[in-house]
Amino acid sequence: MRVPMIAGNWKMNTTVSEAVELVTKMRHELDGIDNVDKVICPPFVSLAAVGELIKGSSIKLGAQNIYFEEKGAYTGEISPLMLAELCEFVIIGHSERRQYFNETGEIINKKIRAALKVGLKPILCIGERLEENEAGKTEEVVTEQLRSSLAGIDYSSGLIIAYEPIWAIGTGKAATGEQANETIGLIRHNIAKLYGNRIAQDVRILYGGSVTAANATEFISQPEIDGGLVGGASLKADQFLSIVRQTSEIRR
Ligand code: PEP
Repeated sequence: MRVPMIAGNWKMNTTVSEAVELVTKMRHELDGIDNVDKVICPPFVSLAAVGELIKGSSIKLGAQNIYFEEKGAYTGEISPLMLAELCEFVIIGHSERRQYFNETGEIINKKIRAALKVGLKPILCIGERLEENEAGKTEEVVTEQLRSSLAGIDYSSGLIIAYEPIWAIGTGKAATGEQANETIGLIRHNIAKLYGNRIAQDVRILYGGSVTAANATEFISQPEIDGGLVGGASLKADQFLSIVRQTSEIRR
């Protein structure tokens, strides 16, 4: 049985004090929910403060990005070694990074290698653009993204995949549960081709794209979907708590 995961991607939101305030509101209740992995991914600058607040709890911490070199003259970048002291997970290949920071499959591949090398668990994001979806190219696009991101990388049990159709991110226009379930089934099939069927059955694949408290059940109740990567709704304590609570109830 795959343990469901709900991960909150706060993106470039919250100051350190706002991050502390938001986690303080959710900490007690989140800690009490034991059949779901709850991951919070605040901005880099808040990782240490949030880490202190959740120390000793069942809440886990993730970063939103990583650089692939361990150290050196890369002004402004954050290295895998720095993150490994602070958190357990790292989001890699988010579509906003592909779109605004020109991250290619090759760069994402290097970042995944770098994360795994220091024991960080990557949450690899893949997903198609609206025009690709409308042209019926979803399978082709996600298959290629998976291939280039994971090329030459041995399977690690830390790997998590998030299927995030770009047209659904931050738009309020979520996929349907059936659509997401079907594509995630295809992704799992591709993982089986890369790493074998047993591993494909172990890998957690999340859905992301306008998940809210109002639609979470539609996704979580699908057999292939192992949880959610939640953006906007993870910045509201009541929404995030409700999504985690619903996941817990459905999977109990
Ligand atoms: C995301 O940032 O990964 C995301 C899915 O955002 P939203 O939930 O706001 O669509």
